[in-house]
Amino acid sequence: MADWAFVALGSNLGDRRAHLAFARERLATLPGTNLVAASAIEETAPLGPVPQADYLNQMVLLRTDLAPRELLAQCAAIERSAGRQRTVRWGPRTLDLDIVRYDAAVIADADLVVPHPEIPRRPFWQRELAELMPYADAR
Ligand code: ATP
Ligand code: CA
Ligand code: CA
Repeated sequence: MADWAFVALGSNLGDRRAHLAFARERLATLPGTNLVAASAIEETAPLGPVPQADYLNQMVLLRTDLAPRELLAQCAAIERSAGRQRTVRWGPRTLDLDIVRYDAAVIADADLVVPHPEIPRRPFWQRELAELMPYADAR
């Protein structure tokens, strides 16, 4: 039985729109996974201590047979194929993929926290979740 997953896409380096499109394409073709809906793209100022360019953000709703940890590993692989380099923590990146929610799962491991703890501090994620929620309710 497939589960719902909300994945946040972010890019502030290079061709930001192309990186989001690349991520949607790759997420949609993951094994046992459908991309059900995508939110509007929103531009936001960077968060955190590192000065950097504005981000383009988007959220997608997936229906997937992948377990949370499998999805996390696939997201990391997609980030790497988009040329993401981990230099400065919270620094600029070609592509960032965060699992914001995974069905009703509550996970608090060292490498995976779901629902993502920053939801209350990211109004754009709250807007995107609200935009996508009707698609997950219509099951
Ligand atoms: P933030 O998570 O606050 O948006 P970030 O996206 O800049 O920060 P990264 O450097 O991309 O942080 O990721 C650091 C680590 O966060 C990853 O290696 C991953 O193991 C871990 N992580 C924990 N929970 C999640 C989650 N829900 N989705 C994605 N990564 C997560
Ligand atoms: Ca992030
Ligand atoms: Ca991340």
